[in-house]
Amino acid sequence: MRVMTGLATSRGFAVGPVFICRGNGKVNIAEYSIEPDRVEDEVLRFRRAINEAKRDVEGIISTLKERSSRDDAMVFECHIMLLEDIELISQIEDRIRKGLVNAESAVRSAYAEARGKFEQMNDSYFRERVRDLDDLERRLLSVLSGFGENMASALKIPSIIVADDLTPSETVQLPRDLVLGFATNGGSPTSHVALLARAMGIPAVTGLGDITSSVRAGERVAIDGANGTVTICPDARTIREYADLYEREREISEAAADGSPVCTLKDGGEILIFANVHPGVPISRLREHGARGVGLYRSEYLWLNREHEPSEEEQFRAYRDAARFTNTLGENASITIRVLDIGGDKIVRGITRKEENPFLGDRSIRYLLHNKAVFKTQLRAILRASAFGKVQLMYPMISCVEELKKAQEILDEVKKELEANSVPYDHEIPVGAMIEVPSAAINAGAIAKYVDFFSIGTNDLVQYVMAADRGNESVASLYQPTNPAVLFLMRNVIASAKRRGIKVSVCGESASDPVVGVLWAAMGIDVLSMSATYIPVISAILSRLTRAELDEYGLLDETFNGDLTADEVYQACRAWLKAHVFDFENIVL
Ligand code: PEP
Ligand code: MG
Repeated sequence: MRVMTGLATSRGFAVGPVFICRGNGKVNIAEYSIEPDRVEDEVLRFRRAINEAKRDVEGIISTLKERSSRDDAMVFECHIMLLEDIELISQIEDRIRKGLVNAESAVRSAYAEARGKFEQMNDSYFRERVRDLDDLERRLLSVLSGFGENMASALKIPSIIVADDLTPSETVQLPRDLVLGFATNGGSPTSHVALLARAMGIPAVTGLGDITSSVRAGERVAIDGANGTVTICPDARTIREYADLYEREREISEAAADGSPVCTLKDGGEILIFANVHPGVPISRLREHGARGVGLYRSEYLWLNREHEPSEEEQFRAYRDAARFTNTLGENASITIRVLDIGGDKIVRGITRKEENPFLGDRSIRYLLHNKAVFKTQLRAILRASAFGKVQLMYPMISCVEELKKAQEILDEVKKELEANSVPYDHEIPVGAMIEVPSAAINAGAIAKYVDFFSIGTNDLVQYVMAADRGNESVASLYQPTNPAVLFLMRNVIASAKRRGIKVSVCGESASDPVVGVLWAAMGIDVLSMSATYIPVISAILSRLTRAELDEYGLLDETFNGDLTADEVYQACRAWLKAHVFDFENIVL
């Protein structure tokens, strides 16, 4: 049993076999010995790989036939014969059984032997078959170890996905019911794949350095997404401990789903806690986690993984359904639909351009203002959906007042067009700006004049304030939500919103860290929005505090006059929570 430590990225616990995703050819095919009790699993894995490879080849054959390439199709028909070759199959299974090696190793050695035999033959037909064997060996090995391209289809049993890193598009393609957890070499808790794991309620540990070479396909691992550890080959005791943790986590979740409309402080004060959601990820469990609304609907996920942008109708249906569902979450429920936030690491084929510095490039609202037709289509779809539930509209990445004014002009244009055609929509639809660029946080007073609410995107705000890439584990220590500079800006944004009488929420994942989320609530944030799986923890902690205690907590960092480092602020806050919430450790696990 070995334990690797990385970054706690998505809360939850899971034990299961490893499925290695090969991305960019970075992971080598692992060959290793196995224990006798794993033999039948390996044989099964090999048989599944044969079936999978056959399906791939049959697909190629029918495409070639459609294109009338009958000669090429014959080559692949020969591949099917080789894949079905009883002698080769039994040789590979024998090697697994008698040699006690994994399927990859058995395939490699059996194919090497077959190649040797074919090469020695005088018949040119058989010598030609060597190339076919090479091709088939590669195909089988790729299916066995889960190459990027075949990743989703190669995954057959519930597994822990181990990868160098995963893009948001790769992640959404994976069948949710077969993914028990994620463990990656790179990435960080605010990278987009991490947010997706959280939205899907899948435990994840990132920034593990070299997990891809430390585990083997099929090997059992246990991942603890709350504390950021991966245990390789866990013993029976560890597996029992995981089962207990899983159970405790379930109890905390159940307590949050008690049907109360908001999170209630110990003395009756109220804090709204909403969820961040991605289209494509089921939202039916939001109530169960205690979410009372949707504070951030990441609309760009409707664009990922496809060749064409979604039509107005398709967008409308997605927004309308989400709005209708959100309505059922409670009295104060609303859904904040954020317009297309692409660019940065959210690459959409055929839409986003390759840029030198994509995080500082033509992303989000900048892209929409340059592509008015795309913007207007989306605005129409959102406005139409607003007739079906309490919808709020939100612009991401606002850097200055000019952008806001331009966006509002386009919105007015769309509203007039809808009115001219008597299309119903909510004429009072609240419009907000995300505050996630330092210039907007500094100039929040001016920006507040043009909107109905603010939502602070700390994922980006912290990365831009600290100049530390949110997805890069090597600068993770600089990614500091409690850095005095960040706290200074948070206070400025909150004060600017209060002066103007508009609501302010935080939809960055920092809200889900119990120490930091409670700090934002204490500083005066009206709504905390986060991945739903984190809501029960924050609710539990807030319900154990009074408003007066929260006020004291909110001033904690100020008592140090900015003299503390980010970590010192964090530790001081944590110590305070431990002293005031008797079962704090138990809740945060
Ligand atoms: C943020 O930046 O905090 C945010 C919520 O937006 P995203 O994570 O989608 O960039
Ligand atoms: Mg952002």
